[in-house]
Amino acid sequence: MVKAIYPGSFDPPTKGHVDIVTRACALFEKITMGVYDAPPKDILFSTRERVELLQEAVSHLPNVEVRPFSGLVVHLAHQVGAKVVVRGLRPGYDFDYEFEMALMNRKLDPDIEIVVLMSALEYQFISSSRIKEVAQLGGNVEDFVPKNVLPALKAKLQAPVSQTGGKVSSKWISAV
Ligand code: ADP
Repeated sequence: MVKAIYPGSFDPPTKGHVDIVTRACALFEKITMGVYDAPPKDILFSTRERVELLQEAVSHLPNVEVRPFSGLVVHLAHQVGAKVVVRGLRPGYDFDYEFEMALMNRKLDPDIEIVVLMSALEYQFISSSRIKEVAQLGGNVEDFVPKNVLPALKAKLQAPVSQTGGKVSSKWISAV
C-alpha cells in the first residue's frame, strides 16, 4: 500500500478538509496531513493551534497523522516516505492553482504523483477564508467546521487583535 501526504494551511480546518482526508483514507495506507507553517496569506490561527485543531478533528481516522511543516511539499513527502500528494478540488478557481502547483511539484520530483479528490456536494463551496469572514461578521458556521473548531473560532475572533495571527479580510459578504 502507498503512503500519501495532504498539505495545506488548514486555517481553520473545515468539514471540506475532513471530507477529503476521509476519502484519501480509503485509498492509502497512511496519510500525513502537513500544516504549512508560513502560508502566503493572512493566518488567524498559529501553526500549533492549527495542528491541534486538525489532530482533534481527524482523531477518529486511525491512519491519519498531523504534523507541521515548512518548505517544499516534496520535501515533506520524502521525510515521511510518501509517494502521493493529495489535494482537494472545488469548482472554479481551485483548478488553475492546483494544476500549476501539481506541475511544479512534478518538476521538482517526477516520482511523486498528485491525486486530486472532490469533496461531497455540500462541502464544495466551503473555504477556510469564507468561514473566517462569515464568523467574523457574526454568521453561524457550525455546518461547515468540525465540532471542536467552532469554539476555537469564536474565542479567536473575540480575542484582542494582538492574540490573533492575522486580520480576516472581509470583502462583500458584509454588503449583502
Ligand atoms: P491552501 O493549501 O491553498 O492554503 P487549504 O489549506 O484551505 O488551502 O486547503 C488544502 C487543500 O484542500 C487544497 O487542495 C484545497 O483545494 C482543498 N480544499 C479545501 N477546502 C475544500 C473543500 N471544501 N472541498 C474540497 N477541497 C477542499
